[in-house]
Order: sequence, then structure tokens, then C-alpha cells
Amino acid sequence: MKNIPVVMIIFGGSGDLAHRKLYPALFNLYEQGLIHDNFAVIGTARRPWSHEYLREQVSDAIHETHDQVDENDVKRFASHFYYQSHDVTNVEHYETLKKLAQELDDRYSAQGNRLFYMAMAPRFFGTIATHINDQSLTGSGFNRIVVEKPFGHDLASAEELNKEITASFNEDDIFRIDHYLGKEMIQNIMPMRFTNPLIKNIWTSENVKNIQVTLAERLGVEARGGYYDTSGALRDMVQNHIFQIITLLAMPEPKDLSSSSIHKAKQDLLESMIIPTPEEVEKDFVRGQYLGRDNTFAYKKEPNVDPESTTETFVAGKVKFKKGPVADVPIYFRTGKEFKEKKNRIDIVLKHMNNPYGQAHSNNITIEIDPVSKIYITINGKKIDTSGIRRENLTYEFSKEEMAKVPDGYERLLHDVFVDDSTNFTHWSELKRYWEFIDTVEDAWQKENEKGNPKISQYLPYRMGPKEASDIFESPTEHWIYE
Ligand code: NAD
Repeated sequence: MKNIPVVMIIFGGSGDLAHRKLYPALFNLYEQGLIHDNFAVIGTARRPWSHEYLREQVSDAIHETHDQVDENDVKRFASHFYYQSHDVTNVEHYETLKKLAQELDDRYSAQGNRLFYMAMAPRFFGTIATHINDQSLTGSGFNRIVVEKPFGHDLASAEELNKEITASFNEDDIFRIDHYLGKEMIQNIMPMRFTNPLIKNIWTSENVKNIQVTLAERLGVEARGGYYDTSGALRDMVQNHIFQIITLLAMPEPKDLSSSSIHKAKQDLLESMIIPTPEEVEKDFVRGQYLGRDNTFAYKKEPNVDPESTTETFVAGKVKFKKGPVADVPIYFRTGKEFKEKKNRIDIVLKHMNNPYGQAHSNNITIEIDPVSKIYITINGKKIDTSGIRRENLTYEFSKEEMAKVPDGYERLLHDVFVDDSTNFTHWSELKRYWEFIDTVEDAWQKENEKGNPKISQYLPYRMGPKEASDIFESPTEHWIYE
């Protein structure tokens, strides 16, 4: 791997994301030689830490995520880290930061390359981007910025944020990160779809009855009640992860594997996305809140959650496209907290085909994303002792050893930022379409709330969400495959 010279500035260097994900991912890239001699990382946050204390934190983060490490490597790696106490709203602090970045650039021969990582609360993203510009923190080489999710709260705030960021950075240098796009099975969708005629030729409106995407979480909101209550499942999970997955499932084949061709294929699809009317939202969407095991309100009693909250901890819905290989095929999705288990999976449900055996079961292609990673296809044969039909799954599966080698999503995506590959990041035009869809649903719900009788299904924990989620199917022969 090529050694990339860079000074990286992490806003939110004392935070959870930096500790659990970014430091371990950077260490792995260091071990592989992608960043090696000519890099320095400045961690910033308000706390008065020293360089030495940040280095201890970085070492701890490596030890917590790696079974075996060479202590000398950890030490050498941590020696590239510097801490700058910094309040993102204080202009003078940017001047100090700029001086330190310049010093480190010289010391490490970083060639004026800068990478800014916004690893803090989204309300600060715009402020930071504006100051990077106003206080000229950019270097003379490449200047890239990684923006964490959520990118805005609705279309208007996303547009505002985008304006602030594009004042300092070109679209090509903005990496809107969604770690789902770094997941192994998500990265398997394209090769699976486009390299085998068996799959490619049935992935059409003629053959696919519906597509189902489920992102199920076992836990409730835990300590995140304050944030979650202002967001909800639709904004927290659908606007980004679910739409990204659906886009990969429904987009036309790209001309080639370049980032621009892949984004072009996605954009062609998203332009044809059907935005639901308020009547369709009422019919095709279900929102819910989890109860406790004793059947009483549980979400509304979580710390920092409004006892009158109408925020959904579960959502099921439908989306369709006018173009692409599965044009007009309903794509159902659901996500929520307090499911019976944590599971992220996709089911491609094939249409029923008249057959002389009278075989009526649906034939599916399933992609399990987490916690296990596999793809399986139903294959039918005959039972040995009768003339009945036997159904077996043909499975593509990873061994435990293989899975242990799979890099974390953040490692993959940081690698992509260093090598300037924006394939697995969200382009503004894609994000805009996602927000247009989400805003329409949120607006319809808001109007329902204002009328004073919002339809919010209550559901028991350790199950599959509210039973009303089965009411959104277009035909009585459809049902959730994963139950
Ligand atoms: P966090 O609360 O743990 O960390 C926030 C950081 O910001 C801390 O370092 C804090 O000191 C710093 N900070 C707060 N106010 C500041 C100010 N005025 N000036 C300077 N620094 C200030 O948050 P987190 O969990 O690390 O999340 C950061 C971002 O990453 C969020 O956008 C979140 O949505 C996203 N994200 C986090 C995770 C995760 O696993 N933690 C996963 C996906 C996305």
C-alpha cells in the first residue's frame, strides 16, 4: 500500500466514535502501511488533555479492540497523535489549531494534505465547516472532509448544512459517511447481482414479487433517549442505512465500477423514486412504540423521553421506483428497537409460477447482513419417499476464520477516504432525494399528530414489532418472510 502523507484533524477526539472506531481503524491502516511515516493526527475536544494523555487513550483503544498487538507498533503509532483543546465555537481556537496543523505538516512532510473528520454532535458540523474556511485551516495539498450522520434533520437543514460545507469543500472532497456501506454483505450486493446470469436475469419486475429489508435491533433506546426522541426510527435508520441498501438493490447496472458510474446509476434510480402522497403514507406506513413486558408504556418512560412522545421506535413502509430492473416492484422495509433479536436482512421474494406440482411456496433469495453474513437461495426438489416438494437452501457463507478477517466498516471507509474513492459515500443528490421522501412521511405524520389522534401502534418487546406492519402489503398473498 502507498504511504499517504496527511495531517488529520478529528473534531470530537475524546468521543465514543473516535475511541471505539476511528483509532482502531487508523491503527489497522497504519499496520498495513497506508498511513505510516508522513502522518499526524490532531485530536480536538474541549477537555484540557495533554498530547501524552491522548496517546494513552489511543493505546487503550487499540488494546480494547485487538487481541494481540506489538507494543512497539502501538507506541510508534500513538506517537503520531497530538491533542488540541478546542471549543468549536471559539474563533481563536481555530488559529491555534491552524498553527499546530502547519507545524505538524512541516515535521511530518505531509505535503499540505488535510483530512478533517467531524466526529461530534451534528449541530456543530456547519460551524466547523465555516470556521475551516474563514480561518483558512485548509492546506496546500488535498483537503477532504468526512461528515458523520445524521446529515441534517430534514431537507431544509440538510440543504443549509450542505451550503456551509460546500462553501469550503468541493462535492468530490466531501465524504458523507454511512458505515453500512462499509459492511461486507452490503458490498456483496453488486457482485452478487451483476456477475451471475442466474441472479441477474431474475432480478427484474417480471420475476420479483417484492423486496423486503429488515434492520431489527434487540435493544431499546438505552442511554440515547434524549437524542432519539428528536429523531425516531425513520430519520435514524431509514433516511440513511435503509435507503442506501434499497438503492443498491434497485439500481440499474452501472456502466463500469468507477465511483462516478456507480453514483450515476444510483442517481438515475433515485430520480424515478415515487414520493408517497399523504393518503399513501397513511396506507403504506406503520409507526410504533415499544411497550414493556408488562404491556405498559416503556419507551415513553425512558430517561429524557417526553412522556407524551409521538416519536416512533418502529417504522414499516414501502417504496417504489419508476425505473430500474425492479421498476414498480414494492420494496417493503421495517426497522425498530426491541425486536426479538438483532438481525439485518434482505429478502428478494420471487413471483409465483404456475407449475404441475402445485408448489405454492414463495422462492426467495435472502441476504443476511448481521450478525451472520450469508446469502441463500431456495432450491426445490422432490422428497425421497413421496412425490411432495422438498425445499432446500443453497447457501453462500463465510467461515468464522474468514469473518474474523473482514475489516470493520470504518477501516474500509477511512481507507477509501485516504485513496480518494467516494464510491461508498453518499452524494448530495442522493441524500437530497432521501430527505424529500422522509420529509413527506414526517409531514403526513405531523399533520396526524396535530389532529390529536395519531395512529401509533404499541408493540411488545422481544417480538417482531407491531402486528399492523403486516397491513402494508399490496396483496393478501404477501407477508414478511422473516418472522
Ligand atoms: P460523543 O458525545 O461521544 O463525542 C462528542 C465529542 O465532541 C467529544 O469528544 C466532546 O468532547 C466533543 N465536543 C462536544 N462539544 C464540543 C465543543 N463545543 N467543542 C469541541 N468539542 C466538543 O459522540 P459520538 O458517539 O462519538 O458521536 C459523534 C458523531 O458520530 C455523531 O454525529 C454520531 O451520530 C456519529 N456516530 C457515532 C457512532 C458511535 O458508535 N458512537 C456511530 C455512528 C455515527
